[in-house]
Amino acid sequence: MLMYMNVIKPLVLTCAGVLGIAGIVQAQQATTPPVVPPPVSASGPCPIGFRDSAKARDWQVRVDNAHALADTVQKRDALYALVKEALGSETDVRIAANKFPTQPNPADYMPYPVVNFDVNLGGKRDSGSSYFFTTRDAAYVVLGPGSIHSRGPVTTQNNTDHERYHVERHWGDSRPVMDREVEVWTHIFTTTFHSDYPYRLLWNPLMSAYENASPAERAITLHELVKYYQNPPAEIGSGCVDEFRAEYRGWIERRVTDEKLAWRQLITDLQRGLDLPVVTPAPPGSK
Ligand SMILES: [Zn+2]
Repeated sequence: MLMYMNVIKPLVLTCAGVLGIAGIVQAQQATTPPVVPPPVSASGPCPIGFRDSAKARDWQVRVDNAHALADTVQKRDALYALVKEALGSETDVRIAANKFPTQPNPADYMPYPVVNFDVNLGGKRDSGSSYFFTTRDAAYVVLGPGSIHSRGPVTTQNNTDHERYHVERHWGDSRPVMDREVEVWTHIFTTTFHSDYPYRLLWNPLMSAYENASPAERAITLHELVKYYQNPPAEIGSGCVDEFRAEYRGWIERRVTDEKLAWRQLITDLQRGLDLPVVTPAPPGSK
């Protein structure tokens, strides 16, 4: 899911936001978005401040309806409204122009910190979820239809945070792309998992990036992920730490039995790092 591409005279181009969710890679191409279950543990006291439980079903219906609209302007406006809702009033979201319908071009976008919503992104790149690029003077963050998922606003939020992190931290960074990707996903995991675990995200992009990152970057990632489990941030609340850790372990355990995913080194490394029983899944197709 990682791509580079050139826009005009470009200096650095970019990576792709990848859906961190349930195996749906390019939601913008799905004519019938899959039905997803609402977040789990929605009515409990943890995670503190979990926002979306009561609205989950409503969000799902509105997202499905928006993606299904045939009229391009209505579809654009409906998806744009959902992006604004997901990101809140503190984020300046603008509808992109479409002067260059076959490739991303700065003329269609506003510079960072504006977040651009481009309903036509899928026609300009092979992923319609999100990406960023830089020119000599500016950086651009672009979300496409694939960043709006029926599971919840969390996908839009994570994709936006992903691209923002690149803009803030990776401008001119010459490390291999997967080293940067695993750094971004580690950051997003360790800043959001404790509040968003009811969504049961797969975190496949984190595992994929880890699989392909350098040994040095893997070691940093593993250290961060183990530290996050052992010393979670105070905002979790002391009464919610046990549930957080159980959910964290549950994510690891479900990856072992998830037949859709290839065997992942990160899962084995986390089992060792967290002193959990080490269970390695059979590689896909082996049975
Ligand atoms: Zn990226």
